[in-house]
Formats: sequence, structure tokens, C-alpha cells
Amino acid sequence: MNAPGSRRGFLAAVSRGVLAVTVFAGAACAGGDDEASAQRPTGGRCALCGMRVTRGSAFASGANEADGHEVLFDSVKCMFRWLGQHGDARDPWTTEHLSRSERPARELFYVMGSDIDGPMGADLVPVDTREHAEQIRTSHHGTQILAFAEVTSSVLDELFRM
Ligand SMILES: [Zn+2]
Repeated sequence: MNAPGSRRGFLAAVSRGVLAVTVFAGAACAGGDDEASAQRPTGGRCALCGMRVTRGSAFASGANEADGHEVLFDSVKCMFRWLGQHGDARDPWTTEHLSRSERPARELFYVMGSDIDGPMGADLVPVDTREHAEQIRTSHHGTQILAFAEVTSSVLDELFRM
């Protein structure tokens, strides 16, 4: 009489254990998702070329359309080209090369012609200060340092050709 009862007790305990683990895993997973997506998606597709974008990776960039809809870019040059096509876009940002942090694109300096390639080949390397930009230009054989407003359509034409 004892054995079946013990067995049922054991199975019940296992079931509870599995349930508890499942609930715990579900909670942990949901918690992680909430944290990551509370403000911003962790990735998506480039609004210009369609390539996958992972936020936090080098060259990842973004902006808001006039209606506030957020768009992402896999490369800095994709962001600049798209901004050229969307004059009413707001708050462009890009990933600063040294810190890998997302920064307002207008505040950064861009190293042109270096040997640091983006996901789309030749790209602009965004750096926080002109001094740091000069260091990267020197050590990575860059040709120019450009401020945000100096990245013209002819600069982009050259980058997309390379
Ligand atoms: Zn792109």
C-alpha cells in the first residue's frame, strides 16, 4: 500500500519541481526581455539596405522619422544617405567607435578612408572628439576627419563606390 502512495508523492514532487523551474525560467526570460526592450528594440533591419542591425555593435545607427517612428541602420553611411533622403528626420544617433555607446550623430567626428571597414565595406568611423579622430586617422590610415555637416552627398557617393 505504501509503494504506490510514495510513487505518486514522488511524481507529484517532480511535477511541482518541473513546474517551478518552468515558471522560474519563464519569469527570468520575461524579465530579461522587458529590460532590453523597455525603451528600444535590440535590433532590426537597416531602413536603407535591409541588412540586419544589432544595437551595440560597431556602426549601428538610427534616427526617428518625422512621425516619431524609429528606424535603424547597419552602417554609418546608410544613416547619412537615408538622412539625405528624409530631411524631416530627427535625432540621428550612431555608435561611437571607442566606447561602443550610442551618441547623437551631430556631436561626433567621422574618420574617412581608414582601414576600419563597416558591415557595408568602406565607412565613416564615428569618434567622440577631434583629438581621438586624429589618433584613429593616423593609426588606421584615414584620409580626412569630417564633422556631421561635412558628410555631403559626394562623400557618400565615394563611400558607396569603395
Ligand atoms: Zn544599411
